[in-house]
Amino acid sequence: MRATVMYGAGDVRIENVPDARIIEPTDAIVTVTRACICGSDLWPYQQMEPTDTGRVMGHEAIGVVEAVGGEVRKIRRGDVVIMPFAFSDGTCVFCHDGLQTSCVHGGFFGTTEVAGAQAEAVRIPLADGTLFPVQVDKDDALMPSLLTLSDVMGTGHHAAVSAKVGPGKIVAVVGDGAVGLCGVIAARRLGAQQIIILGRHADRIALAREFGASDVVSGRGDEAVERVRALTGGLGAHSVLECVGLDAAMTTAISVARPGGAVGRVGVPQNEMMPASQPAFYNNISVSGGPAPARAYIEELLPDVLNGTIQPGSVFDRVIGLDDVPDGYRAMNDREAIKVMVEP
Ligand SMILES: [Zn+2]
Repeated sequence: MRATVMYGAGDVRIENVPDARIIEPTDAIVTVTRACICGSDLWPYQQMEPTDTGRVMGHEAIGVVEAVGGEVRKIRRGDVVIMPFAFSDGTCVFCHDGLQTSCVHGGFFGTTEVAGAQAEAVRIPLADGTLFPVQVDKDDALMPSLLTLSDVMGTGHHAAVSAKVGPGKIVAVVGDGAVGLCGVIAARRLGAQQIIILGRHADRIALAREFGASDVVSGRGDEAVERVRALTGGLGAHSVLECVGLDAAMTTAISVARPGGAVGRVGVPQNEMMPASQPAFYNNISVSGGPAPARAYIEELLPDVLNGTIQPGSVFDRVIGLDDVPDGYRAMNDREAIKVMVEP
């Protein structure tokens, strides 16, 4: 089968690899009907040390179950399924707590251990716990929005939940990538009164407004902080969604939070140390977040996708086949595309 293999920074190739096959009796094999490229895939795209073995990329997908192992009970051949970016058993204490990204038997797709889904097919460990079947046709018009439930919409929602967004809250979203845009959707859905997006790209800002952003701050650093203060009566935001992962974004996020506010971070941190520790301390700001338990959030978000209340699929502004995935990485990295959908 064909798959996307990354060999190092800027080196993405489409290659023939051994077919995905059942290894454990709890596995399933899914034919990928739609996958996508994640903002977090751009970190290795920019930084990965060259390797000879490469890594099959992709952790967001939707597809059709082709085969199941002998111990798979709930998932059946022919099911249309959402594949969350982490696999999980669905039975351990953390899965019961709705934190499947910390499953004691779990892990992540698109790593050196478990192949990813920017491919014709993908092996799903712990299929019963991992996969979420949906009762729609594999080519349903809602597919782009359903696909976002595998990561980006769940991640935006997690940022909002971690930042304690609720009715009447003033929310700031740091980052206008696909996750930030989904953060805007989530904030509005949870009842935010004012949503300020910090971003600089005209196409993304337009989408943010469509999704419910009330104000736009396009400056950076201190200028952005002052602008958010001006928009919030000098006090700052109750809830700040950090959707980038760079130190500067985290510093801005903490700086625009009001005393007693909360920062929900979902951008993958690119440094060991967390910046702005002192202002966070002196202003009693809660800092929370991490890898979103997308599997847990599907249940909550799916009805709103199915009835059209939210349309996170609008973050996809380019659709490509597998052969064009290397160019898809380039386009996202060059900020030419917001988010790229792949139809293998
Ligand atoms: Zn578990």
